[in-house]
Amino acid sequence: MLYYGRQSISEEDIQFVSSVLRGDLITTGPMAAQFETEFAKYVGAKHAVAVCNATAALHLAMLVAKIGAGDRIVTSPNTFLASANCAAYVGATPDFIDIDPLTYNLSPDALRETWQPDTKAVIAVHYAGGSADMRAIAEVARERGAIVIEDACHALGGSLEVDGQFHRIGGHRWADMATFSFHPVKNMTTGEGGMLVTDNDEWAQQARTLRTHGIVRQPSQFVGLGSPEFDEKGGWYYEMQSLGYNYRITDFQCALGLSQLRRLDSMLRRRREIVAMYNEAFSKCPFLKVPRLRNELEEPLSAWHLYTLQVDFEALGVTRVEWAAELRTAGIEAHVLYIPVHLQPWYRQSYGYGVGKCPHAERLYQRAVCLPLFAAMCDDEVQLVISSVLSLCRPKSKQPSV
Ligand SMILES: *Cc1c(COP(=O)(O)O)cnc(C)c1O
Repeated sequence: MLYYGRQSISEEDIQFVSSVLRGDLITTGPMAAQFETEFAKYVGAKHAVAVCNATAALHLAMLVAKIGAGDRIVTSPNTFLASANCAAYVGATPDFIDIDPLTYNLSPDALRETWQPDTKAVIAVHYAGGSADMRAIAEVARERGAIVIEDACHALGGSLEVDGQFHRIGGHRWADMATFSFHPVKNMTTGEGGMLVTDNDEWAQQARTLRTHGIVRQPSQFVGLGSPEFDEKGGWYYEMQSLGYNYRITDFQCALGLSQLRRLDSMLRRRREIVAMYNEAFSKCPFLKVPRLRNELEEPLSAWHLYTLQVDFEALGVTRVEWAAELRTAGIEAHVLYIPVHLQPWYRQSYGYGVGKCPHAERLYQRAVCLPLFAAMCDDEVQLVISSVLSLCRPKSKQPSV
């Protein structure tokens, strides 16, 4: 079965992970530090903090930015649940701004038009790897005193074009923090894993502390236990100065991350090749709409995490369920990303959201199909997807009836 995403693990990856497993330190240690350093350099950020998954990174982003009850956080409805859930974790109100129907990313115009004064952060998602309009989003948000976070889980390795200059996602000045995921379907993997990146020294330090229970071990930062009789500070001594979590990642996962990071550019090249083949084949079909980037200049630099087709099922005279079932008989599992988050039962019940809140995202959901796209896909598999999809794009109504 061909799924929409799949990891690519090399012999070198396995060897590198094994070398850590044979050592003394297997949880967050020197490999994590090295992974953070190389990752920060790759995206062009000052600090990178490795954590157990991107949901934890998003939660830490909320905590270090002191977001809480009474604050509104806005994001795109066309995303994974975690982009919004992180706001609810800290007692803030997650809210949704409709997408631009061309790029499927949060619309800066909608953001400006529906702005509410209690909004403290905008979480922009680079859906499928194509960049959101970060400069426009940052302009709206910062003029109104809010910070900008990039949920860059789809966009590792991708770039943003502004005035003819290219900037790596996670390493430009139109966002204050960025989060990345290393789940196996993402552009590179650590099994489970995530990264928070920022140029802000204080936030990075706080995220590191909150990653491990808010524990402080540096003597210069100690405040004591409240009475001189407890002043003795031996090697065992530490202080918990804030309420943190266990969001650590293991060193063998970080070894996989380092090894994958060194192969990332070649894996991205393969993704782009596959997308070019899909676009070439599908753009001629009147029942299909191929994905578009915000900016054609970014074409060779997009991270291409997902390949999302819009299919005109109405004109074809089939339902998406029937269409996907046919595709499955050819060994291809069509996936649909994403169910608009504001329509999830918990969001409808908790915040009173419902159908009609984000019409463009809702319309996209009704027509979207994500096709297999991953670096380990061979040409034969790509051709199988192309021929199977095209063979399902003949209208049922036009077929001769008996
Ligand atoms: C995968 C993903 C996440 C969550 O990542 P985890 O590492 O699984 O926690 C968040 N946002 C987006 C857009 C994602 O695709």
